[in-house]
Amino acid sequence: MIVILLGAPGVGKGTQAQLAAKTHGWKHLSTGDLLREEVAAETELGLQAQTYMNRGDLVPDEVMVGMVAARIATLPAEDVLLLDGFPRTLVQAQALEEAAPSGSIGLALYFTASDDVLIGRLLGRGRKDDTQEVIQHRLAVYRETTEPLVAFYRDRGFLAEIEADRPVEEIQPDVLAAVQGALSQTKLA
Ligand code: ADP
Repeated sequence: MIVILLGAPGVGKGTQAQLAAKTHGWKHLSTGDLLREEVAAETELGLQAQTYMNRGDLVPDEVMVGMVAARIATLPAEDVLLLDGFPRTLVQAQALEEAAPSGSIGLALYFTASDDVLIGRLLGRGRKDDTQEVIQHRLAVYRETTEPLVAFYRDRGFLAEIEADRPVEEIQPDVLAAVQGALSQTKLA
């Protein structure tokens, strides 16, 4: 089952995904991490992507779809894959539906927190793209381009909301419960 992690930059999707994957033996695919590996290795893709990332813009859809599609097409039915940072646009969401094994998308977890919390966490993280100006831009891009996916997945009946304005260890049981709930639904289907 594919679990899509939705929510603004800094909301803690990656932290929750890493911990949950480790604890429960799930897979975790972070497109941000994949891109940063490409940047560090100075591949052609990495050099291209870096310009967008440093500005707080999205890397073009075709690059991202190419990066994710092959990795999910062969997902064994019994595996749980936490998809972190993808899709971020409607085009990516549609491409995901085409590339994913039929019926494998079972849940979109929507993490929420106030802007003050988000900005505080991002500034604390201190990544190269975590300057005040770039953060403001990333949040604006998120609201404009990625947030519409919340309605997209709500319409499909896949959405579960997680209040992420709490300590990491308080959020984790909610993540587990939502994934287990979705898993039992797919088994009934
Ligand atoms: P954050 O933790 O702040 O949400 P990520 O580590 O997920 O950030 O992503 C860092 C950057 O990588 C994004 O700002 C964007 O430029 C790029 N990126 C990651 N995933 C995608 C995607 N699906 N589509 C376009 N760009 C992406």
